[in-house]
Amino acid sequence: MAQMYFDEDLSLEPLVGRTVAILGYGSQGHAHAQNLRDSGLDVLVGLRPGNSWDRAVEDGFDVRPVADVVREADLVMFLLPDEVQPKVYEQEVRPNLRAGQVLAFAHGFNIHFGQIRPPSDVDVILVAPKGPGHLVRRVYTEGGGVPALVAVHQDASGRAMDTALAYAKALGAGRAAVLTTTFREETETDLFGEQAVLCGGVSHLIQAGFETLVEAGYQPEVAYFEVLHELKLIVDLIYEKGLSGMRESISDTAEFGDYVSGPKVIGEASRKAMREILADIQSGRFAREWILENALGRPMFSAMRARERTHPVEVVGEALREKMPFIRRR
Ligand code: NDP
Ligand code: MG
Ligand code: MG
Repeated sequence: MAQMYFDEDLSLEPLVGRTVAILGYGSQGHAHAQNLRDSGLDVLVGLRPGNSWDRAVEDGFDVRPVADVVREADLVMFLLPDEVQPKVYEQEVRPNLRAGQVLAFAHGFNIHFGQIRPPSDVDVILVAPKGPGHLVRRVYTEGGGVPALVAVHQDASGRAMDTALAYAKALGAGRAAVLTTTFREETETDLFGEQAVLCGGVSHLIQAGFETLVEAGYQPEVAYFEVLHELKLIVDLIYEKGLSGMRESISDTAEFGDYVSGPKVIGEASRKAMREILADIQSGRFAREWILENALGRPMFSAMRARERTHPVEVVGEALREKMPFIRRR
């Protein structure tokens, strides 16, 4: 059973009177900076000049170059793209680090795979929200929270876990659940989840379902509503009530079809693929490929992104969503 903490078990005290620097103001960065500020902490934002910088200034933050905020701060949270972090660490963070500071991450990749190796006199912690940044912010403003995993890689101060828990509380995660883990468990499960289920699995399930219907002569618009639009409604039920709760809301015909046909789509071949994906993550093979891809200027990534953007489900979807402006949130 995982060790779990909730708001009433947690204290902000380890971060009160200390300065938190948020590096980056993208999906996670804007959410962390704003939630921590609303929780009463002192927040600086570290960036390079550009769009994010302008947005953070507009949102009322004290924004400065990365090197400057590292010199100011007691805790430095890395919310830069994972593939950018090692270079920014070498050039702007490490030269300005001092003993007793805390380095924090929202994903364990660079520490677990040895791309960032901090000196032994700083704490190294993980506070990884289990949700997209925009929801980390939206759910917090609605009074809820997105759950988070916390871990300690290096405990120079002897208080690293308390600091991680305080950060998770300030982020709003204690309103959902804060779970203790390790950098290794977070990194491997996060990569597996996004590849096999949440992103890779779901998007290819949608595309395959769409293509099957359209190839059989059905209208693309009908196929879009069936396999993409409606997915959100089903997932909302799963999120609120679990699989059994979702199955209570659908017809018995749909539920019967779920039991007899689901295992045909996700059968032994898919499970074997999942085990292979996990093995490649655990061995570091996936990490090596992604690091190499970045070092080469992302040729495969760019080609795949361009190709996927023109998929027919995207073309029909864009036209349909334009007719449903209520769907677009902030
Ligand atoms: P984004 O790509 O959304 O944002 C990155 C930010 O870093 C931008 O503000 C960008 O600013 C800034 N940036 C990029 N390069 C530099 C640089 N050289 N110097 C200074 N600033 C720079 O990242 P995410 O929020 O998606 O990811 C951040 C971390 O959070 C990652 O570790 C990721 O794994 C983790 N995470 C992300 C989740 C998500 O929901 N996206 C979920 C859980 C964890 P600019 O406008 O200048 O490019
Ligand atoms: Mg994730
Ligand atoms: Mg991830």
